[in-house]
Amino acid sequence: MQIFKQKQSLIHHLEESHLKNASIGFVPTMGALHEGHLSLVKKSLTENTITVVSIFINPTQFDKLSDLEKYPVTIDKDLKLLKEVNCDLVYIPDNQDIYGDQMVSENFNFGGLQNEMEGAFRKGHFNGVGTVVKKLFNIVKPTRAYFGEKDFQQLQIVRKLVEIEDLPIEIIGCPVSRESNGLAMSSRNERLTKEDREEAGFIFKILELVQGNYQSASLMEIQRLVQDEFKKHPTFELEYFSIADEDTLKTVKDKKSTTKPRAFIATYVNSVRLIDNLTLSN
Ligand code: AMP
Repeated sequence: MQIFKQKQSLIHHLEESHLKNASIGFVPTMGALHEGHLSLVKKSLTENTITVVSIFINPTQFDKLSDLEKYPVTIDKDLKLLKEVNCDLVYIPDNQDIYGDQMVSENFNFGGLQNEMEGAFRKGHFNGVGTVVKKLFNIVKPTRAYFGEKDFQQLQIVRKLVEIEDLPIEIIGCPVSRESNGLAMSSRNERLTKEDREEAGFIFKILELVQGNYQSASLMEIQRLVQDEFKKHPTFELEYFSIADEDTLKTVKDKKSTTKPRAFIATYVNSVRLIDNLTLSN
């Protein structure tokens, strides 16, 4: 496994692969890797000649400095995990390599996707995501890029990004990897106490409850059901619960208006923010 810290050497190294038309799979991450990340890497390894993983904590996508500062960094462990799964190349740039002297976000119009849910609660988040993903795509020029459905809105935004930038990259969405209690794996889970991490399994239980009741209950009844469940877990503060259409990400107001409904939750537990989602169409 080769490690690159500078884009110029990575670009130079990938030149030959591009000339040979070898397929390049790319998995962008912010590190603190877990099985969720590795599932994307493993998928890329089976579908491409070369797999590149980037590890870069992107400052411009954080709306709160405290969240950025507390973001876990476990680089040695990350490299060990990537080596174990036979990843080919790892790119670990610093801020200067990605942004130069201007650490600012580009302003994107993702056709309104950027204003829903995460976009409404995390100002500038998706401009930051779009900026760094576009920069990384321009460096790696992958054939395919892998993103987790854990961050479903981000996945849809990245799909939109390649559309508006006209990039010849296939975006592959990958299922959510979960802990044994159902909690979606996340680097942020490291910041939870053992008790909170166990209790956090209830987030997925709610999503399953919503899935099970979606056909028979009204949208209002489902909202009430979710509120009631959160009342039973007072350390968890619900930021939003939304049933939205997968393509537009707009809140479903009439069940007949969508064939692709999906439930989304964002919640705080002792200042750690967790998100999760689940399809409601089966
Ligand atoms: P992050 O390091 O949090 O930026 O995540 C890097 C990539 O891994 C993103 O595409 C995430 O959606 C994906 N990812 C993170 N957690 C999971 C998970 N539990 N299951 C599947 N994919 C995940």
